Amino acid sequence: MNLKTLAALLALASTPVIAQGDANENPVDPSIIPADIAAKAVALRARALSDNLSVDIVESVTTEVGPRRMGTVGDQRVIAWAQAKFKELGFDRVWTEPVELDRGWIRGEATAEIVEPYPHNVVMTALGYSVGTNGDLTAEVVEFPSYDDLLAVPEGDRLKGKIAFISYSMADYEPPEDGAGRGAYGEGTRARGKGRVEAAKRGAEALVIRSVGIDDNRNGHTGSGYNYEEGVRMIPTAAISAPDAILIQNMLRRGKPVVLKMNLTSEYTGPQMSANIIGEITGRVDPDRFVLLGAHVDSWDEGTGALDDGAGIGSMMATAAFIGQMEQRPRRSIRVILFSGEEIGFYGVYAYMKEHAGNIDNHLLGAEVDTGGGRANTLKSGVGPNSLAVVREMHKLVAPLGIEFNDGNDAQAQSDMSEVSKAGMPALHLRQNLNGYFKYHHTPNDTFDKIIPEDMRYLTAAYATLFYVAAEMDIDFRK
Ligand SMILES: [Zn+2]
Repeated sequence: MNLKTLAALLALASTPVIAQGDANENPVDPSIIPADIAAKAVALRARALSDNLSVDIVESVTTEVGPRRMGTVGDQRVIAWAQAKFKELGFDRVWTEPVELDRGWIRGEATAEIVEPYPHNVVMTALGYSVGTNGDLTAEVVEFPSYDDLLAVPEGDRLKGKIAFISYSMADYEPPEDGAGRGAYGEGTRARGKGRVEAAKRGAEALVIRSVGIDDNRNGHTGSGYNYEEGVRMIPTAAISAPDAILIQNMLRRGKPVVLKMNLTSEYTGPQMSANIIGEITGRVDPDRFVLLGAHVDSWDEGTGALDDGAGIGSMMATAAFIGQMEQRPRRSIRVILFSGEEIGFYGVYAYMKEHAGNIDNHLLGAEVDTGGGRANTLKSGVGPNSLAVVREMHKLVAPLGIEFNDGNDAQAQSDMSEVSKAGMPALHLRQNLNGYFKYHHTPNDTFDKIIPEDMRYLTAAYATLFYVAAEMDIDFRK
């Protein structure tokens, strides 16, 4: 039922908006944004709308690199790919900053079957950094409808000899106000992260969760980094496909014990080195101060990371590249930061913050894309009170792309970049249509064919317009 609600909402939100320029243009106040800057922004917007570069970049990274989980061969490949791509696109400076990974992880194979009361093969995938099962692990399943239901069991050995199964379904909950399903997603990620520790504290042999997603595909959604806790037994943990979670629930409803046999061959490797990759369009007046566009360069390892976060890489690189192709460099620099290790625990941005903690004041304004390639539907800022009037005028320049303005002015940059926001960097956030993001992300189905080119062009046009103005004007967004 809830799936229908979300589907209707998404269908409505993706109604095409034609941006033909002048006819839909709401004039910008020239005392706030000079007329020549506004005119250049409108021209840039039109150029970005007709240029497929953002899509081509996603095609390139998904084809030439593919899966790129931090600490894997794909990670090394994408570091080389990104540097070459920045140079090819004409960025003035390209560099990497090292990011250490304390331990690597080999996914291995995950197989599972229900052996009682009705034998079935089921589909599961190891959650990130799960330990292996050391051969077959066969045990009775105990269902918990939510993570809190598991927490309600007193710590001890109540679940000894059992597999804890959290059947929480993200798809069954109303999407929160932004239609993004992020509240429902956040609830699912609690079990996906620390569930393994809490199940172990209660004696369980393993933790299995229903995949955190809204699809009905027979594949698991992986996720999570190293979430074990010192002193707590490390138990295997995996996500079962939504249809198989329902199958187990149907069996449990019959009142007979359900026995699951699972086999994970996951294992750890030693420390690895990775890197954040940064490309800069150097400002002509004030090169040492910059606006930032972020995305994460790593992906989960079962798909090719098109939506999560190839779309962020493509839209952010293309945004800066378009601005870099204008007749002159903007006043201030534009930096695109491709963060390492977001999926397994923000490794890249933590390293970045360590390195740059002393000059966060030079980070003038930032944004990150990490919700796929859907077009933007709402602009919200997180800037100083005096700057809100400027953002309001900036919004007029992207309104023809079908973007509304939310004047709450409490936005943070998304994902990795939220850490920079917390340190005081002003932010713009474009809420996007999800285009099935939570059906595909973290699964083998996160592949290039899910990208909707026109939507990527709209998204990129919006960021290019906004960040050109932000880089060109001499504004302190903290004020
Ligand atoms: Zn992501």
